Amino acid sequence: MNQTDQAFLPFARPDVGDAEIDAVTRVMRSCWLTTGAETQAFERDLVEYLGGDLHAVAVNSATAGLHLALEATGVGPGDEVIAPTLTFTATVEVARYLGADAVLVDVDPVTLNIDPTRIEAAITPRTQAIMPVHYGGLACDMAAILDIAARHGLQVVEDAAHALPSTHGGTLVGQLPSAATVFSFYANKTITTGEGGMVVTRDSALAARMRVMRLHGISRDAFDRFTSRVPAWYYEVVAPGFKYNLTDMAAALGRVQLARLPAFLQRRQQLAARYLAELRDLPLQLPVEAPAADTHAWHLFVLRLSDAARLTRDELIDRLAAAGIGTSVHYVPLHRQPYWRDRYGLRPEQFPVADRAYQRMFSIPLFTAMSDDEQTRVIAALRAALR
Ligand SMILES: *Cc1c(COP(=O)(O)O)cnc(C)c1O
Repeated sequence: MNQTDQAFLPFARPDVGDAEIDAVTRVMRSCWLTTGAETQAFERDLVEYLGGDLHAVAVNSATAGLHLALEATGVGPGDEVIAPTLTFTATVEVARYLGADAVLVDVDPVTLNIDPTRIEAAITPRTQAIMPVHYGGLACDMAAILDIAARHGLQVVEDAAHALPSTHGGTLVGQLPSAATVFSFYANKTITTGEGGMVVTRDSALAARMRVMRLHGISRDAFDRFTSRVPAWYYEVVAPGFKYNLTDMAAALGRVQLARLPAFLQRRQQLAARYLAELRDLPLQLPVEAPAADTHAWHLFVLRLSDAARLTRDELIDRLAAAGIGTSVHYVPLHRQPYWRDRYGLRPEQFPVADRAYQRMFSIPLFTAMSDDEQTRVIAALRAALR
């Protein structure tokens, strides 16, 4: 890059300010760095944000949370878990951790969310759970999915990595009557703790199991022992658990980010509305908006090239990169990933919607720390490339 080039605009950039730095520093100067009071407060804060009446289990990644949620709902060897092919591998790798199998299905051509009719067709006597992914921050057709689950006696574990905050039928994702909902606080998500996640559930027994499995299968966690009045050294191991707890430094960062979430959402909505207005006349299929009463979290802004476009998706990504604009593709569908393809003998023809979308899709920069001028550059570069 020479000096006349503008700075490269990344596809995403976290929005961390002095308040976050101060909060983390405060924890670092205290005598408690691992899971403790800050983490418990972060769990309470998220429950309050979601409207109460939930149990929250903070974890060191959404992947860990998905693993704990499936384990707690009883997914085990030989079971099948139904999920969309158009997702990140984390959604379904956790089924394999438990010896279960992933059954991948196609998505809806408009929303790119899992297609409920494909779920129903994929159910077998081995099916144990459905894992909807709220793609890009647009809630799945949860009414249909919860109805299918109820009729077939299946668990629903929502991958809500993109969906803080999203609503379905006016209800926040996290409050819908699924077994558990898992949020991600990875660096590029709508709020971040660097690495981290949270599982929420209405079910106290499920929450209790996840708390135990989050920390080695120990019946009391280190903070309880540290602050307890009764002899603190004694604990019982009741299962071969995991090491999935969140640090208090991460939780402190997350609490400040959560307090900023309403402003973050507003900024994302503003950026999305401008893209929708100013890219309308280009040979692009724009992302669909949420129904009128609902909220789209706008974690991603995913465009698809129309047939009328005179260049390929890969050529367009190269043009944008040459103009100093970062993009990404969400996702190389799992049926094209060697592990999943080969394990289940998957072919692209089995997933016509996701496969066609994949070949045309790209995600453009949409993050709260992005300026109006930076967005102008993205729009101008797209217009120039698609002229
Ligand atoms: C980011 C993401 C995950 C994993 O989140 P981590 O917190 O990084 O473990 C899972 N599913 C989807 C759809 C994601 O985008």
